[in-house]
Amino acid sequence: MNNETLLKNLRNVPDFPIKGIQFKDVSTLFKNPECLQIMSDELYELYKDKGITKVVGIESRGFVMGAILAQRLGAGFVMCRKPGKLPADTKKMSYKKEYGEDTIEIHTDAIDENDVVLLHDDLLATGGSMAAAYRLVKEFRPKKTYINFLIELTIEGLNGRAAFEEGTDISTLMRI
Ligand code: AMP
Repeated sequence: MNNETLLKNLRNVPDFPIKGIQFKDVSTLFKNPECLQIMSDELYELYKDKGITKVVGIESRGFVMGAILAQRLGAGFVMCRKPGKLPADTKKMSYKKEYGEDTIEIHTDAIDENDVVLLHDDLLATGGSMAAAYRLVKEFRPKKTYINFLIELTIEGLNGRAAFEEGTDISTLMRI
């Protein structure tokens, strides 16, 4: 896809949060009405015929377009959050990061076996965090699970898709 208006408006912040990282700042896409419309339309076109019943947004940048898309698809929206944020019973998944470990949670009653789930986040880098969210969603045994990112980083040999088993349905709006 690589829509020119999106690429032109995406802000790159060098050395954030640490030296050497080229941070892709999607806040400049979210604040721009034209970009918001383009992303909403492109996502809707990708998923309108898939029978999606739940969109799962990854905290926190995955909440923005995830919720917009859920509303357009007539689906529900589910938050995948950092530990201790969700108030009711949760399922949890821990995963290794470059330094240490992280955990994510989803409410136990958020997804069931009749759901067709789309997982959404802003950016695919190594794929570690989304792979953990994918494993967690699979524990709910939904009928089918799709994955989407706004941006797929392919620079410096990054291949985030390798974090997922062959045949996993992954789509992205921009590859940079
Ligand atoms: P990963 O688990 O390595 O795929 O990292 C993905 C998560 O980290 C996403 O939630 C992104 O928001 C964030 N992230 C990683 N690298 C970047 C980057 N270069 N620019 C913006 N966000 C990033």
